[in-house]
Amino acid sequence: MLLIAAYLLRRRAEESMALDKEGKIIEVLNPSEDVCMVRFEPPVSCKPGQFISVLREEMGKPIRKPYSIASTVDEHTYSELCVRIVPGEFSTWICSHKPGDLLRFKGPFGGFILQDQADNDLVFAATGTGISSIRPMVFLALKRWGVREKGEPGGIIVRLFFGVRTWDGLLYKEDWERLTREYANFRFIPCLSREARDGAYRGYVQNALLETPEGFKGEDIYICGVEKMVQETVEAAKKMGFPKEKIHFEEYV
Ligand SMILES: Cc1cc2nc3c(=O)[nH]c(=O)nc-3n(C[C@H](O)[C@H](O)[C@H](O)COP(=O)(O)OP(=O)(O)OC[C@H]3O[C@@H](n4cnc5c(N)ncnc54)[C@H](O)[C@@H]3O)c2cc1C
Repeated sequence: MLLIAAYLLRRRAEESMALDKEGKIIEVLNPSEDVCMVRFEPPVSCKPGQFISVLREEMGKPIRKPYSIASTVDEHTYSELCVRIVPGEFSTWICSHKPGDLLRFKGPFGGFILQDQADNDLVFAATGTGISSIRPMVFLALKRWGVREKGEPGGIIVRLFFGVRTWDGLLYKEDWERLTREYANFRFIPCLSREARDGAYRGYVQNALLETPEGFKGEDIYICGVEKMVQETVEAAKKMGFPKEKIHFEEYV
């Protein structure tokens, strides 16, 4: 609790000192009723996993909320935010933007980033739009340690547990299918809480982790999602023997 409060204070201090920036929105997509993807230019130069703090003026008062950058620096000429439309003010406002609108923000910020070294396999766990920070990290991990052909030496296993309610709600599905085809050491484990389907785990990410038959052997794990999911997945990771210092997480609060 104290650690989270200290982290939030540090983040606020860092944000208040940072300069305002502006992006021009080029596209707003709706992969489902309650998610939007906002693309803007120029792209933010950031480390995979980092977020920006989007600024909105409300009755002359600035309000800011953090959003992870879901795009990857080398792959895209724009930056992308992937936002869940919850019954709140800010997410609805972001998703109501149109091409040509300007987005004001500060950043990038955040220390939830991929470690430079991987002496062991890697595990990523996300639910819903928590995939925003995890997606560029998975791309970077496979760029660094991906193995194209089965049997090629030196590769580590990169596992992605991605939890949503139903198959149709899997964000960036084409990416996960493509990476599965392209990399012999990538394992995609979709976890569906409300649908039974061949090739997918039925239930929550944290239970899928606990029921992984081969177990784990001291890997780094990166977890992102809403508070409850993150806390439960951190507990599951501890039970599965992940060393405390190798459990990295970001809570969307
Ligand atoms: C570092 C960081 C990065 C973030 N990145 C993203 C991101 O990439 N995409 C994104 O959608 N959100 C992200 N969030 C959450 C985001 O900042 C807002 O909290 C969220 O958009 C809700 O704001 P609101 O004003 O619309 O609703 P509020 O009135 O503030 O919240 C309504 C309810 O929705 C819950 N909630 C918040 N975020 C989510 C979510 N993503 N999915 C389901 N429930 C949620 C809250 O816990 C609250 O109970 C991030 C948060 C942090 C701290």
